[in-house]
Amino acid sequence: MHRVLQQMVLLGCAALGAAACAPTAPPDAGPADAAAAAAVYAMSDFSRVRKYDAHVHANTMDTAFLEQARADGFELMSINVDYPDFPTLETQHAAALALAAAEPARFHWATTFPMDGFGAPGWADTVAAALARDVAQGARAVKIWKNVGMVEKDADGRLIMLDHPGLSPVAERIRALGVALIGHQGEPHNCWLPLEEMTTDNDREYFRNHPEYHMYLHPEEPGYEDQVAARDRFLAAHPQLRFVGAHLGSLEYDVDRLAAFLDRFPHATVDLAARMSQVQYQSVRDRDKVRDFFIRYQDRVLYGTDLTLGPDADPDEFRRQAHAVWRADWRYLATAESQRVETIDADVPGLALPRAVVDKLYYANAARMFAPAPIPAASGAGN
Ligand SMILES: [Zn+2]
Repeated sequence: MHRVLQQMVLLGCAALGAAACAPTAPPDAGPADAAAAAAVYAMSDFSRVRKYDAHVHANTMDTAFLEQARADGFELMSINVDYPDFPTLETQHAAALALAAAEPARFHWATTFPMDGFGAPGWADTVAAALARDVAQGARAVKIWKNVGMVEKDADGRLIMLDHPGLSPVAERIRALGVALIGHQGEPHNCWLPLEEMTTDNDREYFRNHPEYHMYLHPEEPGYEDQVAARDRFLAAHPQLRFVGAHLGSLEYDVDRLAAFLDRFPHATVDLAARMSQVQYQSVRDRDKVRDFFIRYQDRVLYGTDLTLGPDADPDEFRRQAHAVWRADWRYLATAESQRVETIDADVPGLALPRAVVDKLYYANAARMFAPAPIPAASGAGN
């Protein structure tokens, strides 16, 4: 959810500022403790460990994003989205091709498709042809955004939910192309709560200022459970589809519920983009529970941020913010250090996940989900 990004970037800076790059000294440790500590990364490991930000938006040909990713040891999955506040899909596509050409081993991209013309004859074939072209150009995934479920309407004026039969041929095409579908459906659970019950200040502030998007005030629209249920029916109908649920699959508020989702859909994974504070909200209340979740589902979660570089941004300022966000998240997931997280008004101890788990969250899972599409087998009786 891109509107959270600015708050998230600010959060990252605030967290970094509070932590002030001052790792706490390790306590006196015996040999056993020393061995255990050695299995956990430190802040000093941040830039050298191979990492992958599985959810960013590089919406300009400016190479600042790529340069900071190189400096901090990240590969990037830049996701094109049919989002009114972003540059046009053509501009996003051109930026993706240019940056992938500049550094193909580091910059990866996901394509998307417009919903214009949905329901008209030939729409699905037109989309399928465009997706095949994009995958041939190197796209590693396809994004479907929350406009499906919350904005786009069919000819009868009804919202198009993700499990609409008209989307089925597109899903099957994506599966046949051998790439992942990144789905962002719904909103954070907070969106359906009154302001005083929301768990994070960034959501509270946003929905106070944008009552038109605050679904608690719009009970006539599909509810949270309607959005999640439509997504789940879609996954049940396409069990072979490789699916990445963006933003923790909109189940960010409860790791138990997220675990049940991952158990039910073994081909599904989720990314952490723009939801770290929701995880932190839970871990300050029960750190072991959240830490155990990441260990148990270490093959199913992709590190991601939602960092966005638009055409009007100051590239140097963006690099500084991206570096701060990436370091704050590393401090939380990979180390035991505490940091101040303003949006939940709490000091949040790090999870100190085992190195092997961090390596999966931060790299291996994304590399697997976004592996290059298989080269299509030659068809017909060519010679
Ligand atoms: Zn995003």
